Amino acid sequence: MSRFLNEKYQKLEAYTPGEQPRDMKYIKLNTNESPYPPSQGVLDAVNSVEAANLRLYSDPECKRLKEAIAELYEVDTENIYLSNGSDDILNFSFMAFAGNGVPAAFPEISYGFYKVYAELYGLEYRKISLKEDFSVNAGDYCGINSFIVIANPNAPTGKTISEEDIRRILESNPDNVVLIDEAYVDFGGESVYPLIREYKNLLVVQTFSKSRSMAGARLGFAFGDKELISDLNRIKYSTNPYNLNRITLVAGEAAIKENSYYMDNCKRIVDTREYTTVQLKKLGFEVLDSKANFIFAKSNKIDGEELYKKLKENGILVRHFPDKKISAFIRVTIGARADMETFIEAVRKILEEK
Ligand SMILES: *Cc1c(COP(=O)(O)O)cnc(C)c1O
Repeated sequence: MSRFLNEKYQKLEAYTPGEQPRDMKYIKLNTNESPYPPSQGVLDAVNSVEAANLRLYSDPECKRLKEAIAELYEVDTENIYLSNGSDDILNFSFMAFAGNGVPAAFPEISYGFYKVYAELYGLEYRKISLKEDFSVNAGDYCGINSFIVIANPNAPTGKTISEEDIRRILESNPDNVVLIDEAYVDFGGESVYPLIREYKNLLVVQTFSKSRSMAGARLGFAFGDKELISDLNRIKYSTNPYNLNRITLVAGEAAIKENSYYMDNCKRIVDTREYTTVQLKKLGFEVLDSKANFIFAKSNKIDGEELYKKLKENGILVRHFPDKKISAFIRVTIGARADMETFIEAVRKILEEK
């Protein structure tokens, strides 16, 4: 840290992304990327069409991509916000919808970035405990007059919260924004984006990073009442109006037009998730019921950290979180079927050697 850093950032603990080591080739089951490549249309768009135009700024309104998303999801373009990854949308939302007496609230066990944003903006915030079975207790969020952020499905548990519970939370916090982070919704969850017509305080955030094989393109989108969307645009136009580059914009548009390719991949991942869950249970694991492209699992023979390390020695990366409440678990991204077979074999071997 230099002596120039503003004091208010000196204690900031930044988010730690999943490791991306370069020392050898690993089977990467640690950052919830898709094992499948982008669709042909995306490859074509990126390779030829847009590269020649890079000297020109991108469209700050992202008109064509917004129109494509509006058509697929049957909403108006005014109800869509686009940004440089959904992390960017979360960042702007914490900046825009909390503070000045409005605290933030989110589950104690959830996406680690929520806490980082809350601290970045010096917000008051509450981390709300999950139930014993790691599910979100909707009652804890009712009438709390806070900016509420809930991932559905939640990370790293993969567990969902029902539409009925989300309605209760929205209705009991009419003066606050409720943000539902649906990064994993395409793997078997149910999106609540149609509820934006009923609730002016609902913001639904999704991403191209997981179900649409574009983590490296950085593209997130959100649905909300047009007033909420205009608030986010106010922040975007006060920081970086061109926060989506030309290549990502055309790639996103092509991906939306080939939606069925991605939804078929999601089905494959769901099948592989079920296969992996069954295999781990046979090996004595407790596996939480996941609707995401990862599973959260705990062995009855080996601690989470030790298993993580042994898998790494075997060339397989999974994610382990040191937080005591979940340190017995590992989070395993669902990759291609062959990779999951390799993973299961490695786990079997590690357990036998114990
Ligand atoms: C991966 C993830 C994100 C971030 O996605 P990007 O669009 O790549 O920024 C947001 N929320 C949750 C819960 C995630 O797991």
